[in-house]
Parts: sequence; C-alpha cells; structure tokens
Amino acid sequence: LELYQVPHWGKHYFSINAAGHVVVRPDGSPDREIDLYEVVEGLRQRDLTTPVVVRFSDILRHRLSRLQKAFAQAIAENDYKNRYTAVFPIKVNQQRLVVEEVYRYGKEFGFGLEAGSKPELLAVMALTEDAPERMIVCNGFKDDSYIEAVILATKLGRTIIPVIENFEELALVLKHAQKYQVRPRIGVRVKLASEGAGRWRDSAGEKSKFGLFVTEILDLVKVLKANNMLDCLELVHCHPGSQLQDIRKVKDAINELAHVYAELKLMGAGLKYIDVGGGLGVDYDGSGTNFESSMNYTMNEYASDVVYRIGSVCNARGIDHPVIVSESGRATAAHHSVLVFNALGSSCLDKFRISDRIEDEYSGDKDELPQPVLDLFEAYRTISERRLVECYHDALQAREQALQMFNLGLLSLEFRGLTERLYWATCAKIRDYCRKLERVPEELEGLELILSDTYFCNFSVFQSLPDSWAIDQLFPIMPIHRLDEKPTRNGVLADITCDSDGKIDRFVSQREVKRTLELHELKPGEEYYLAAFLVGAYQETLGDLHNLFGDTHVVHIRLHDEGGWWIEEIVKGDTAGEVLSYMQYDVERLFPQFARDCERAVREGRMTLAESQALRRFYEWELNGYTYLEG
Ligand code: PLP
Repeated sequence: LELYQVPHWGKHYFSINAAGHVVVRPDGSPDREIDLYEVVEGLRQRDLTTPVVVRFSDILRHRLSRLQKAFAQAIAENDYKNRYTAVFPIKVNQQRLVVEEVYRYGKEFGFGLEAGSKPELLAVMALTEDAPERMIVCNGFKDDSYIEAVILATKLGRTIIPVIENFEELALVLKHAQKYQVRPRIGVRVKLASEGAGRWRDSAGEKSKFGLFVTEILDLVKVLKANNMLDCLELVHCHPGSQLQDIRKVKDAINELAHVYAELKLMGAGLKYIDVGGGLGVDYDGSGTNFESSMNYTMNEYASDVVYRIGSVCNARGIDHPVIVSESGRATAAHHSVLVFNALGSSCLDKFRISDRIEDEYSGDKDELPQPVLDLFEAYRTISERRLVECYHDALQAREQALQMFNLGLLSLEFRGLTERLYWATCAKIRDYCRKLERVPEELEGLELILSDTYFCNFSVFQSLPDSWAIDQLFPIMPIHRLDEKPTRNGVLADITCDSDGKIDRFVSQREVKRTLELHELKPGEEYYLAAFLVGAYQETLGDLHNLFGDTHVVHIRLHDEGGWWIEEIVKGDTAGEVLSYMQYDVERLFPQFARDCERAVREGRMTLAESQALRRFYEWELNGYTYLEG
C-alpha cells in the first residue's frame, strides 16, 4: 500500500486486497469492494480491451454527498442561517453520461449545473427540464443570441443566472429583458484584488481575463438602478483559480467577495446568492511532495472556512446570510474515473553484464585494444564505494574519447560495441553501490533514472492524460495486480504515440516526486495492467488526437443492490474510420480506392489473389477497429 502511496491519495476509495489486486470502494466503505483486475478481465471476456476508462458512478454519488455533508456540517457549526448548493461546471467533464449522473445524484441536494459556453448552455438547458428550480449559472463570454436564450429560458421557468463578465453583456441583458418583458436574475463576476495561487492563479486578481473591476460594478449598479432593476442583481461570483493548494488563498478570496456582497446588498441590490466558484483541490499525490498536485487542507476545512468567512462578514454588516453556491468541479469528478492500460513490452540499459576479466569480453589480441576501451575496463574493475564519482568520470571520459575515435573512422564497430557494454555495465555497478548509500553524490543521482527500464504502454498521454504532458500534473499510477509480489524493476512509462513527449517519468512518492516507478518483470504471454487514477476531471475532453489515437473505451460500473457489481454502460472508443473522418477523410471512399489498387496489383502480377484479399480484409477490418493496439 505504502509503496504506491495508496492510502494517501486513495481517500478510502482505493485499496489492495489479499490477492494483490487494486480494489475500488465506491462508497468509501470496505464492505463493498470492486476488484479492478476482475473488472478488466471481465471486460476482456466481453471483447473490450485496454486502454479503457472505468467510471465508478457510485464514487461520483459519494463525492456529491461528501460535498453536501461538508457544507451542512459547516453551516451547523457556524450557526449559518441559509443553505448551500453546488452547480457542477460541466467543462470539467462534459460527457453526457457523466453530466446526467451528476445531475441525477445531485437531485436530492438540489444541486444545479454551470455552463461556460453556448454549446454547454444547450446541454444544460435541456437537461434541467424536470427540475426548473435547480440553478443554472452561466459564466464565460456571451453574445447576443446567448443572452437572448438565457432570457427566454427564464420565461420558460428555469432558475438561470447569467453572470456578467464584462460591461457589454449587461447591455444585452437589458435589451432582451425589455424585449421579452422578463425580470431576469443577474449575477456579476468580481475581479478580486486577492490573487489566486498555483497554476491557475491568473483566474483571479486584477489581471484576470474575467470579471468586472469594482469601478465597473459600481457603474453596473447605477445602470440597473436607472432601469429600476437593481433587485434583479441576485448573485456575486468569483473564481479564485482551479486546484487551490493553499487554504489561505481561499480565505482571502472569500473574505473579499463577502465584503463586496455586503456592500452591494447595502446599496439595495436584490442579492441572494454568493457564488465562490471552483478551486476546491484534489490531493493527487497525497503527501504534499509536489505542491501543485496537492493541497494543504481538506474538503471539510474548505467548507468551514467558506461558511465562516461569509457568515462573519454578513454578521458584522448586519445583513442576512446568502445561499452559498460553489462550482466545485475537480473535487466532484476526479476520483470516479480510472484509466487502465496494458504494458506491451520493455527495454532497459541495465542488461549489460560483464566479467572482471577482459579476456572474457574480448577474445582477440589484447594489444589491439584501443586506449579508451582499456580505460573503461579499468574504471569498471576498480569501482569501490570510495571511488564512485571518480570511476564515473573516468568512464564518461573514456566513452567520449571512444566515440570521437569512431566518428573519425579510427575505432571498429566491434570496439564501439564493447565500449557500449563496458560503459553501461560500469554505470550499473556504480548505481548498485549508490543504492546502499545513505546519501548519493549529486553527480550520480541521475543514474537511477538513466538506467531505469522503459515500459511501453498501450495508451496515448495526449489523449488520456493531457495534463501530465501539458502542465506536469502528477497522477497516481500503479500496477493493478501482482501487488502481493515484490516489484523488481524500476521504470518510466512510454506511450504508443510517435512522440518522445509521450512518456511519464514523474510519480507520486512519500518524499519528493519519484522519477521511476516500481514495476514487475513482464511475463511472456501474460498481460500486465497499470492504471492512472483520479482522471475524471478535465482529462477526457482536453485530450487530443495526436497520431490519431482516439477516445478510449469507457465503461460505467455500478455497485449492485444485491451485492457485487455490474456494467451499466459501455461506450466504445473511436474507430480508425471515425478519427479519419474527424480529419475530413471521406471514409466511404477510402476502402474502395484501396481495394482498386489491390485488384490492379493482382492483374499486374505483383500480388497473388490471396495476398490481395488478406490486405483488403486487414484494411476493412482496421477501419472499423480500435485505434489502440489489440494484442
Ligand atoms: N467555475 C469557473 C468559472 C471556472 O473557470 C472553473 C474552472 O477553472 C470552475 C468553476 C471549476 O473549478 P474546479 O474544477 O477547480 O472546481
């Protein structure tokens, strides 16, 4: 458990069973476990191969109820005289099944949805048909037709609040409100002076892309007042940035927002809601080794601080407590998805073993051995704990000289091969000594990484873990089986794209970020499955089609009321034909075009009919096949 830090990032949802498999505890309790390896094997029997995203709907439900409970507790403890509600920002994961589940599970708490663009608004407006009282918050840039739709949705009965992000949007709201004789609910996003923190710090602060300066808000109040619509201003909003790591930044932002709320309320605005935006973090590494991927507070602490700050400002200013709204996306969705993928093979530089006698390595005349090769052998032979750095430097220099000689045509390929074996064997011997040391000399720190294995894995970092590539986000990654067996290899992961950036070489660890992961030796003919956890937020739609690797398969797994689990939904991944059509290929024409060429080859005697048929079958089959390797 500790090797991969499971208890730290797993948050009661993930553990390891006696069989050495990762288990998922969707409702956080050890009584109801799902064996992830069993799920993957079950999918294989249903012809669904990895990579696959496994979504655990019950985790989503549990996250929503945790959020509700955290705020309910904070409200009770702080004697807060109003309620809390969440709106799920669908940009975090717009997949229909995810949004529908969030909406369904959020029903008992009255949670709503947030849209940040016109297409998101279209999705959200249709979904909220059954419960018009559940809030829809509209953030982001809005044009004339967007605002017109929002005003008409108000007439339809939706509790929809356009958040004014810039002054032009106000004019559009007034125009359409007048045209359709609607008294809209209006929100305003405040450009806070308190800066955000972490990677998304620019979402807040005076240089942020969104929101109104206080001067502009005062103008907005004047305009609304002049139009006799100040009572329509119902919500103030801020978004202090996503994945807030430091609770102090949350406190500062909420404190400032609460004061803006109080001032506007005292000016006569019809304010009812204070929307604290997103930012509630997810502890991806669980131990705070990589600050940007972790957080220094809990969900309960966050809720408590938000409620306390707003309550105390309102108490001090003698105004009623507003409904507290949060747009917590990452904290809702991250835990419920797991990306499972298989290793295809591995390579390593740690395979060169040599003997202490040069005769065993070279059978020719010893006098012919070039000086750099002799130097390298000497470096290898004389390694001792005291001479580690010295021998390493000697080996480096000798190799460099050998390569120079090779490039001048003065060293044969055979000696170049011997140089290679001697050099890597020397590095491996030095690395083995280092493993026994308490403090590894700085020059030798990189050896572990250089000599580590590369495990080639069947997935695309760009499609499935884009934040790992784009912003160095850490995700917990580990094997999902053989965990009752000591891993004997250390490796980095390479994906199957033809891009050297498609790799993962930073892993969660107890102290500092690990550059290699403990892995098991691959066994011929046996699958080795790994998984990346906490991938439910932002990864799926941010992913791209690099090398035309498309969406992976997705399955929704649910706990069954009578025990065990069942597959609720299977969404097949993209086929090669689909991704080609995204790139404007006329897929209908591709196969006939290719088939004609095969026919021509048969007529011209370049291929037998059987060969041509085999190639045609392959082409047709693969057009309808998965974009990943299928073993
Ligand atoms: N609300 C707004 C306006 C956002 O821009 C974002 C994302 O950055 C969110 C909510 C969701 O934030 P998080 O996923 O950190 O909760």
